[in-house]
Amino acid sequence: MLSAMVKAPRYLFLAPAGKANVALKQKKYSQALQLLYLAKSYVNKVIVNPAHIIALNNGFAKTFLALQQPEQALEYIQASELLLTDYDRPLNNRYSRNTLSLKAQSLEQLGRFAEATNALKLLIKLTEQAKETTQQKLEQEARSRFESTQQDIKLQLAEEKFKYQQITLDKLAKEGQLQAAYSVIGILAILSITIFALNQRKAYLRSQRRANTDPLTGAHNRRYILDFIAAQLIGKQQNFSVSILDIDHFKQVNDQYGHDIGDQALIAFSALLTEQLADTEYQFARFGGEEFIVVMPNLTLAQGHDFIGNLCICLKTLSLTDKKITLTSSAGVAQMQPGLALNTLLKVADTNLYHAKNTGRDKVCS
Ligand code: GH3
Ligand code: MG
Ligand code: MG
Repeated sequence: MLSAMVKAPRYLFLAPAGKANVALKQKKYSQALQLLYLAKSYVNKVIVNPAHIIALNNGFAKTFLALQQPEQALEYIQASELLLTDYDRPLNNRYSRNTLSLKAQSLEQLGRFAEATNALKLLIKLTEQAKETTQQKLEQEARSRFESTQQDIKLQLAEEKFKYQQITLDKLAKEGQLQAAYSVIGILAILSITIFALNQRKAYLRSQRRANTDPLTGAHNRRYILDFIAAQLIGKQQNFSVSILDIDHFKQVNDQYGHDIGDQALIAFSALLTEQLADTEYQFARFGGEEFIVVMPNLTLAQGHDFIGNLCICLKTLSLTDKKITLTSSAGVAQMQPGLALNTLLKVADTNLYHAKNTGRDKVCS
């Protein structure tokens, strides 16, 4: 009913998410991924609740696990974990168990056995808890959060009807007023359901923003940009370049001026990148530490090289107030090729960055 009200049918999200599950069961992994990304593209357009997103993230994780890409799987699992901390519902146990089981598998694939064991221990604990609690009742409670609002309304209507039956004939003259009351009750019912859904959505958007943002600089983070690249690459793999930029001798900035100034430098560096890329279709993210990634759809390797070269020149103009710090950066650029895995594309950019570092820094290599 709500979807109809906002003219955004939920099946646009639910159908591809469901089909992705089927594709996954049929071991059609690339098809599963495409469907998952399609579902994901509707997350901000239709009303879905956090449980749907957790299921979607876990679908991504399952697929990446099947593709032996545990790092990517782990990114989605972390996103699910974040949602689970924000989304406190009786059903949490079931979603947490599902997430933990995938986490243990990813960590195992990564050879992080101690952490995998910890995840399994937690999973066992939650499984025991689930047995102890009257889980069925709790699950029903979760489901009925929506329904209870409607039950209340039905109750109100029933009471009103009851009253109505009791009124005497002369009061029937006031029927018009009663009808108006029903309408008000109906509108209130719709409003309360809408408010509930909007609150759910607000909580979801808040945690989504947190999951995609680097807390120090406010820039996009690694998780966001990897998703962005993967989504961009569906269906088109040409003229797509990425660059990894790493600030030169950044350790010296910390050693000489202190960690706080180092932090300020990273914030200013990120702000300048935001400014420089503002009117372009390019996106960047803090990839980790003093390393940033710039994604350039529709640029060839040579064009990407030139663009990053100019960007690095501009980044050198950055100066921190009352400190004469000039930052130079080195960058590696790589272009997507048909059939190339995302990890390989990033490795090529990283190798080129390494080359720039080893041949004098303050330069771009591709
Ligand atoms: P290179 O030119 O080879 O890249 O040298 P570098 O000193 O930049 O590289 P290295 O990897 O040796 O050191 C990176 C430094 O970045 C070390 C680490 O303390 C610092 N760093 C990473 N993240 C942060 C952060 O969030 N804040 C601050 N202030 N420093 C950070
Ligand atoms: Mg560095
Ligand atoms: Mg570095």
